[in-house]
Amino acid sequence: MPFAVARLPFVLLSLRAMVVNDQNKFQAIISHAKEYGFVFQSSEIYDGLSAVYDYGPWGSELKKNIREAWWNAMTRMHDNIVGIDAAIFMHPTTWKASGHVDNFSDPMIDNKDSKKRYRVDHLIEGFADALNKEGKTTEAEKLIADMDALLAANDYGGLKQLIDDNKMKCSVSGTCNWTDVRQFNLMFSTQLGSVAEDASEIYLRPETAQGIFVNFLNVQKTARMKIPFGIAQVGKAFRNEIVARQFIFRMREFEQMEMQFFIRPGTQQEWYAYWKAERMKWHESMGIPAESYRFHDHVKLAHYADAAVDIEYSFPFGWKEVEGIHSRTDFDLKSHQQYSGKKLQYFDTEINQNYVPYVIETSIGLDRMFLLTMCHAYQEEKWTKEDGTEDSRVVLKIPAKIAPIKLAILPLLKKEGLPDIAKEIMATCRTEFYCFYEEKDTIGKRYRRMDALGTPFCITIDHQTKEDQTVTIRYRDTMTQERIPVEGLVQFIKSKL
Ligand code: ATP
Repeated sequence: MPFAVARLPFVLLSLRAMVVNDQNKFQAIISHAKEYGFVFQSSEIYDGLSAVYDYGPWGSELKKNIREAWWNAMTRMHDNIVGIDAAIFMHPTTWKASGHVDNFSDPMIDNKDSKKRYRVDHLIEGFADALNKEGKTTEAEKLIADMDALLAANDYGGLKQLIDDNKMKCSVSGTCNWTDVRQFNLMFSTQLGSVAEDASEIYLRPETAQGIFVNFLNVQKTARMKIPFGIAQVGKAFRNEIVARQFIFRMREFEQMEMQFFIRPGTQQEWYAYWKAERMKWHESMGIPAESYRFHDHVKLAHYADAAVDIEYSFPFGWKEVEGIHSRTDFDLKSHQQYSGKKLQYFDTEINQNYVPYVIETSIGLDRMFLLTMCHAYQEEKWTKEDGTEDSRVVLKIPAKIAPIKLAILPLLKKEGLPDIAKEIMATCRTEFYCFYEEKDTIGKRYRRMDALGTPFCITIDHQTKEDQTVTIRYRDTMTQERIPVEGLVQFIKSKL
């Protein structure tokens, strides 16, 4: 069916992104997220709870769509990956075995004047960023290399010396009056049991991975999995982050999407390379160009890993981790085997051998992926109209397949039977994808609101619809419009998702 491109209500002489600096852009994204119902501060009426956030109507929809995109990519698109949904509470010995009781801590330093506490790596990285901005890139690189070496050696005296030698200042007091570097555990604990005396201390899980490890045999046997195979899980994790800032980038309650891939020992290098490439492909499939990402190899490896890399994204506040890929060896299964006294092994019929499998983990923060999507999508555009006047809009160019609302259905007028036709179209489309019906305000205002929510398609029902059963479809990204028949609309939109 040839569609006539309708004349635009205005001519875009020059559509251009407004120049905003990164810090302003980030503040604008935070305000936008609140104003348009994406993210709210938790318990806002009580002045909020630090580093805890709630997702609003469109935020929860976007988050669900990202979660589904990940889940489907992992489970539906891989014959050898299945999912689970384990409990947040786990037997306390789990965290002894995983190493979290003894090792899950960050080196911190306090400024004695302001009492502000910093994660040592963040303080030094912040100082290196400032050096970079002054053009002192060599000094910045050397500083980061020195820090990585000291962290790898757990040399806290050396880290303190590095901070002192560079005269790093506290952003609040402006002084260099620092305490020694110390470790703080990040796990939240609580009591299980109704009577205090009977209660035993348990933890809110700081990662979802351990729920997968302790279920390794349950899943392998019941789902009849053969190595190599993976177990995927999405769920809440909790960390008592000392330095919690940058909006939803670092939260105390957040969601992780993790997958543990169980392999034959000795094959970890090839599977590590495979998952690095596979995960980067997924990021690109989410509509984010490759140049917005980079790999960052870990110098200091966690106690369980023999190789680790972060996928970093260029956020408005710098390059930061969104996802980690870790070669975890057989550390976790072996340790659970030792602490529980239960065998966690696999009999490999191909080589007639029993072994504790090795593991490659992919671990991504759902909230961070959400923030990344918002940062990438948020654009302020300005253009000159045909009559020489200026116009502008804020638009979220969220990829159509994960946009909260896919189609807005807008009758041009609230009368003359147009709402009835629109509601009929709504009834047909809403079972297929998320639709939004709106009849208030001028059509221009309604388009702007849909741009701000990231709705990729709007259709307008007007008098011509009554005559020839066509509607005007408007595309969010280009603002172009064309007429298309109502019949086949569902298929037309689906083909674009
Ligand atoms: P960071 O260095 O930023 O603290 P991490 O290396 O401790 O992160 P992992 O333990 O590897 O993070 O967790 C995997 C993923 O979970 C991270 O890549 C990130 O996307 C997410 N994540 C971790 N901590 C938080 C947090 N406090 N808030 C939101 N997401 C988080």
